[in-house]
Amino acid sequence: MNSLAYKIDILVIGGGQAGLSAAYHLGRLGLKGGKGYLVLDKSPQPGGAWQFRWPTLTMRTINRLHDLPGMGFAEVLDPGQTEVRAAEAVPAYFRAYEERFHLPVYRPVTARLVCDRGERLRVETDRETFSARGIINATGTWDAPQIPYYPGRELFLGRQMHTHDYHRPEEFAGRRVAIVGAGISALQMLDEISRVTDTIWLTRRPPEFRDAEFTAEDGRAAVARVEDRVRQGLIPGSVVSVTGIPYNPAIRAMQARGVLNRQPMFSEITPTGLRWPDGREEAVDIILWATGFRSALDHLAPLQLREENGGIRMTGRLATQVARDPRVHLVGYGPSASTIGANRAGGAAARELVDHLGLATQEDPQT
Ligand SMILES: Cc1cc2nc3c(=O)[nH]c(=O)nc-3n(C[C@H](O)[C@H](O)[C@H](O)COP(=O)(O)OP(=O)(O)OC[C@H]3O[C@@H](n4cnc5c(N)ncnc54)[C@H](O)[C@@H]3O)c2cc1C
Repeated sequence: MNSLAYKIDILVIGGGQAGLSAAYHLGRLGLKGGKGYLVLDKSPQPGGAWQFRWPTLTMRTINRLHDLPGMGFAEVLDPGQTEVRAAEAVPAYFRAYEERFHLPVYRPVTARLVCDRGERLRVETDRETFSARGIINATGTWDAPQIPYYPGRELFLGRQMHTHDYHRPEEFAGRRVAIVGAGISALQMLDEISRVTDTIWLTRRPPEFRDAEFTAEDGRAAVARVEDRVRQGLIPGSVVSVTGIPYNPAIRAMQARGVLNRQPMFSEITPTGLRWPDGREEAVDIILWATGFRSALDHLAPLQLREENGGIRMTGRLATQVARDPRVHLVGYGPSASTIGANRAGGAAARELVDHLGLATQEDPQT
């Protein structure tokens, strides 16, 4: 085994919105790219998880992309260009951003394990090994699709897939598709797939459509609820559980087309379809699990950051600092799992970690 470990003050793991925001602030605080801080990113190109989003997700159908600190998206894409694919536009923006601020992003590199080595943290990757004084983890959720277990799952003869694997509706033509989930992605896929084939829509609870506009205050209240959970060491919970689904024109049109007939969850998967507790069965060819993602944190397992209930107790100004190990910050996690949250969290984590490690060399003008 190669025991040489490259010494670095702060290692940022993940080069999406959260990681780039953290890197920007580390640079502004005077850390030098390379020895001072380095971003490791598993993705082949700039863009974080946006580069993997399905082609029909456009700048019109995403919720909203918040600008990274110090450079607006409008510098790369005219705000009127709403039909551009998110998987092209956002990576172009992130690439320009990395270049503008000379961010030291090393890719593709996957962090495999982070271990406590007393004064330092050892980070094993699929390339070199690093020895860091602190870590800002920004690995997002895209690599951790979540699929609930239902009996019979392994016996199903059709195809099972997750939002993560979705490309375009045409691939479902002629198949009967069960779409599971009550989030925005589930509804977008239901909208698209129901135009080309027969669909069934299943959710655990009746979905909560929100008629009123989602105001900035609603956003703050939703974030505060998730922040409160992680400060208590609880698992953050899904985005929809705090925001609800907007009752927008697309949803109204789906209702008019008769595709919003939500069914309760089945209790079992059979080789050819789904079975409910009352014995009713439906044949389906494909089960599309739009059941969300969890945070991709497996590489941090050796640090034993989790509480008994599986949550991670967070502290610090924006709840980015792990209470059990203050050298570790999680950004894009819990209350900061949105582009706006990731942005702010990156700044807060950079400043707190630099202070904690006694590395501060200059004031971040963004403070
Ligand atoms: C379908 C979908 C649509 C969304 N739409 C919106 C929206 O419109 N507005 C909004 O605010 N939010 C949206 N979100 C949430 C959004 O993804 C986040 O807010 C934000 O983009 C996440 O940024 P991030 O930096 O935390 O993660 P990511 O963009 O996922 O970046 C994480 C990076 O870390 C890398 N990585 C992962 N594991 C490792 C590892 N072990 N080692 C090294 N690198 C690693 C990944 O390759 C990736 O490049 C959406 C999410 C989904 C799933």
